[in-house]
This record gives sequence, C-alpha cells and structure tokens, in this order.
Amino acid sequence: MATPPENARAFELLRDEALACTACRLSEGRTQVVFGMGDPAAELMFVGEGPGAEEDRQGLPFVGRSGKLLDRLMAEEMGLTRESAYIANVVKCRPPDNRDPKPDEIAACRPWLERQVELIAPRVVVTLGNFSSRLLLGTDVGITKLRGRAYRYGDTVLVPTLHPAAVLRGGGTAMANMRADLVRAKTVLQGGVVDLTDAGMVAR
Ligand code: SF4
Repeated sequence: MATPPENARAFELLRDEALACTACRLSEGRTQVVFGMGDPAAELMFVGEGPGAEEDRQGLPFVGRSGKLLDRLMAEEMGLTRESAYIANVVKCRPPDNRDPKPDEIAACRPWLERQVELIAPRVVVTLGNFSSRLLLGTDVGITKLRGRAYRYGDTVLVPTLHPAAVLRGGGTAMANMRADLVRAKTVLQGGVVDLTDAGMVAR
C-alpha cells in the first residue's frame, strides 16, 4: 500500500515535531527521541515498548540483541529486512534504568504512535510484547493470551507476538511462538485468509 507523497511530507513533519517533544518526564533523561526507523510507506509495521540504552545512544529502535533477533526472525520467517518495514515503540524516549513505561507516559506518547500508524497505513501491525499489544488492542489481557491470533485494528490487521527480549529469555517455546506469529503476519501480507478475533472476546 503506497503512501501518497503528501503523507510522506506529513510523516517528516511529524518526526520533526516529535524529536522536540517534552510532553512527559521521559524527556528529562533521554539522549534523544527514538522516533522510529524504516520505510514510512511500509506494508508491515512493528511496535515495541521503548528505547533501551543503546537505542537512546544511537537514536534508532531495536539495535541491541533484541533487534538482532527481530532481524533474524523477520528474514527467516518473512523473507524481509527491517528496511522494508517500519519499526517504532510505544514510548519514544528511554525510561530510566530500563524500567517499564508508566501509564501517564504511555498516554502522553500515544498520539505520536497513532499518527505514525495512520500515515504509514500498513497492512499489518505486529505488536511486540505486552505494552504495545495491550495499548493498541485496548485490553489488559496479557500477551501470552493475546498472541496466536490476528485482530482487526481499523483498516489494518494486528498480529501480537512476544517481545524479542522475552524470547531471548524464554528459550525454545517462546522462539517457536514468535516464529509462528510472524508466519501469520506474512500470510496476511500475502493476501491469505486468517480468522480475525475481537480483542474483547479474549478471556484474561
Ligand atoms: Fe514526548 Fe513520548 Fe518522549 Fe514523552 S516519551 S517526551 S511523550 S516523545
């Protein structure tokens, strides 16, 4: 789904605006805003949690061990590189000591992510872990219950999966689950039929 030129311009303006954001306390400890990276006309978008130390230093998302795993699984299961997708996070600034983002920080940062999704207009959004999956699906159900399905998210299909950091900790089963979720996302990208679930129907 190509992004029209006016969307590309709007995306650049959005990025410039976000890079100066001080809407929550996370602005105080960051080195820089990690807005996102990849193709703003991508059909596939990944949404993680927030920048870590290396991401904060480089200004890019998923550049550490988690990012390497994401790159590998994307290549092995989807035949794609990160340059052909777009990668962003729920919060754009690093939480101190890599703590979880707080609800008010997530709420403050949410408009940036929603506008990114709106302008990129991907066919598939893959949410990585609890924070992005719960936020975009509007549920407090955990990722282990949410994953394994595909959901309607506006005009987009949302496929939740584990955060790569959890897969690094979790071993074989977690890895197999993430691989299966990426195959599900690829099926949607290729126009295949998947059942779409209503997040409100998934029991806690
Ligand atoms: Fe702004 Fe988001 Fe950074 Fe908070 S985390 S300062 S809302 S860009």
